[in-house]
Amino acid sequence: MTTETASSNPLAPAPPGFPACAQVDLGAISANVAALRRHAPTAELMAVVKADAYGHGLVPSARAALRGGATWLGVAQLTEALELRRAGVQAPLLSWLHVPGQEFVPALEQDVQLGVSTTWALDQVVAAARTTGRTGRIHLKVDTGLGRNGAWDADLADILERCAALQSEELVEVVGIFSHFAYADAPEHPTVRAQQERFEGIVEQAGRAGVRPPVRHLANSAATLTNPSAHYDLVRPGVAVYGLSPVPDLGSPEHFGLREAMRLLSHLSSVKDCPAGQGISYGHVYTTHEQTRLGLVPMGYSDGVPRNATNVGPVLVGDRRHTVAGRVCMDQFVLDLGPDSTARAGDEVVLFGVGAAGEPTAQDWAVAVDTINYEIVTRVGAKVPRVHLDEVPS
Ligand SMILES: *Cc1c(COP(=O)(O)O)cnc(C)c1O
Repeated sequence: MTTETASSNPLAPAPPGFPACAQVDLGAISANVAALRRHAPTAELMAVVKADAYGHGLVPSARAALRGGATWLGVAQLTEALELRRAGVQAPLLSWLHVPGQEFVPALEQDVQLGVSTTWALDQVVAAARTTGRTGRIHLKVDTGLGRNGAWDADLADILERCAALQSEELVEVVGIFSHFAYADAPEHPTVRAQQERFEGIVEQAGRAGVRPPVRHLANSAATLTNPSAHYDLVRPGVAVYGLSPVPDLGSPEHFGLREAMRLLSHLSSVKDCPAGQGISYGHVYTTHEQTRLGLVPMGYSDGVPRNATNVGPVLVGDRRHTVAGRVCMDQFVLDLGPDSTARAGDEVVLFGVGAAGEPTAQDWAVAVDTINYEIVTRVGAKVPRVHLDEVPS
């Protein structure tokens, strides 16, 4: 039954041995990058593939992004950059979130560029440059008002002064200077203009200190799509690469020429008759109101289905939308399929996808559980197999 259901699916079947999978349409990732390039035609494009490519699978997603026209890849953690190099990815790579004591020698050896926002990070780049005999290529991360990662004030002045000296010794090359918005998803917010002005002021300050990085970058997905004045030399979209709208109130993915790349699906593990008045799942927070049929879905919060999808998470079974009935458990949840349901064990259950066949989208899940679409895709559990469609041979 499972095989029969899966093989009638136009996309790939679920892999055997695990009842759920996240299908990732790599063609969509390539097409989304191409669309983003059209939104920012004068800038280079760094596809952000941190967090396992927002849950879509690091290496295949990175390759798909490059195929779509990305000229750079960006990650938060150095381990992710090194994994891309081990897989043979040769594109320019930037990693930007580090801790003191972290070893930068492999970064320099593998030509991974490093985001530097602190004096200790600069010291460590210099140490790695001396060890390897290579120039450390860095992007200065400046805080223009996000109030998060990035240098400002005296630290910034200190870093700029030292970079000027280190550049002449060829220990460091300042390739880029970058910052991040606090309100990119609200393009009219006054902080957006203020951060851009601050950024431009810091670029001038750097120039006066003798540091003239050729690659200035500030725009995430939202600014790439809605704020051309923030594109500068390179844009850094993440969530939009995966076909999700960074500004759902301003436009759907289609509105921006994007398509959701991830489809999360499972199969009914059992279907049974149930009388009216039966409490469902832990704590009986749902009670059947009529004689009905219950479907059991073998996915739970350990697979990334939010526990607070209890009684609100939307799913598609066949051509019918249902809502999670009762508590989401660690590895399962229940659906009240209704008295006339013809669903059978093994039938496909789609948690989210592009929405074209009536299935919910990641954005629908975000609304249902009061979070953002970013969290819905990145939280899909590591044990849920990623099935990549349209994979480019390496
Ligand atoms: C995550 C991240 C991005 C990408 O953000 P999206 O909103 O997903 O486009 C860009 N730049 C930095 C510094 C980030 O941390």
